[in-house]
Amino acid sequence: MSHIATASAQAFKQELPYYEPVGNECALFEQAYRQRLPLLLKGPTGCGKTRFVSHMAAKLGRPLFTVSCHDDLTAADLTGRYLLQGGETRWVDGPLTRAVREGGICYLDEVVEARKDVTVVLHPLTDDRRLLPLERTGELLEAPDDFMLVVSYNPGYQHILKSLKPSTRQRFVAMSFDFPPPRVECEIVARESGLAFERCAALVNLAASLRAMKGQDLEEGVSTRLLVYCATLINAGMPILDAACATLVEPLSDDQDVQQGLMEAIKATF
Ligand code: ADP
Repeated sequence: MSHIATASAQAFKQELPYYEPVGNECALFEQAYRQRLPLLLKGPTGCGKTRFVSHMAAKLGRPLFTVSCHDDLTAADLTGRYLLQGGETRWVDGPLTRAVREGGICYLDEVVEARKDVTVVLHPLTDDRRLLPLERTGELLEAPDDFMLVVSYNPGYQHILKSLKPSTRQRFVAMSFDFPPPRVECEIVARESGLAFERCAALVNLAASLRAMKGQDLEEGVSTRLLVYCATLINAGMPILDAACATLVEPLSDDQDVQQGLMEAIKATF
């Protein structure tokens, strides 16, 4: 088993996904990993959390198991289940169990979306026992030193029924993410899209005014991800206003008045 994990870790190490640091997040992640502490990332959608985790997993040479949580996700989806294969019933590890067995990083994106029984599995893994009990197989797995649990959630659109309970969140080292400062965001958008830096700077300026409209009728401000989409379409030759409408207006709202407001801000810039 150990040489399989090493092989996948090496394969991972060859490609370091591009990530532009904003503060001390890389050092904090690395320390949490070395001290065997679980990590909670908070922040709006599209601000770089997933990219950050894949960058750090590659940097640390650990295989990454990412799960996008949704409201039907149960503990068994993470730990594993017996499946009928070729007439035989066989136990198949879920992503969390694989990460524990292989000494990898398990990233649970939007963890608050998952069913409640998921927290029951996470609790013994997130204290100093670092245990994963598999009731169905009767195993009690002890997480190796190179296993790490990372979870994320977006405090922006939590409602009272779906937020992390203190008993869960206080098991994690936590850090907040937000949209990068303008200079860093220009770097990211230029690098990801191939569009010239100065043209990206205009988009990032525009994003600041669009983000200022958040709260009135907009649930979320325009994300770095959407800016990258917009720059990518412009770089491919699409007229700016068409690209902006398709990436900075339509994905943000269905309300015609809000869309008109966004479009006016865009036309005032370009
Ligand atoms: P989240 O997981 O927070 O929803 P992602 O990590 O998927 O967001 O980020 C969305 C996109 O934004 C990425 O695919 C990448 O193009 C870009 N991005 C955002 N922040 C960064 C960053 N700091 N470095 C590199 N790319 C970034």
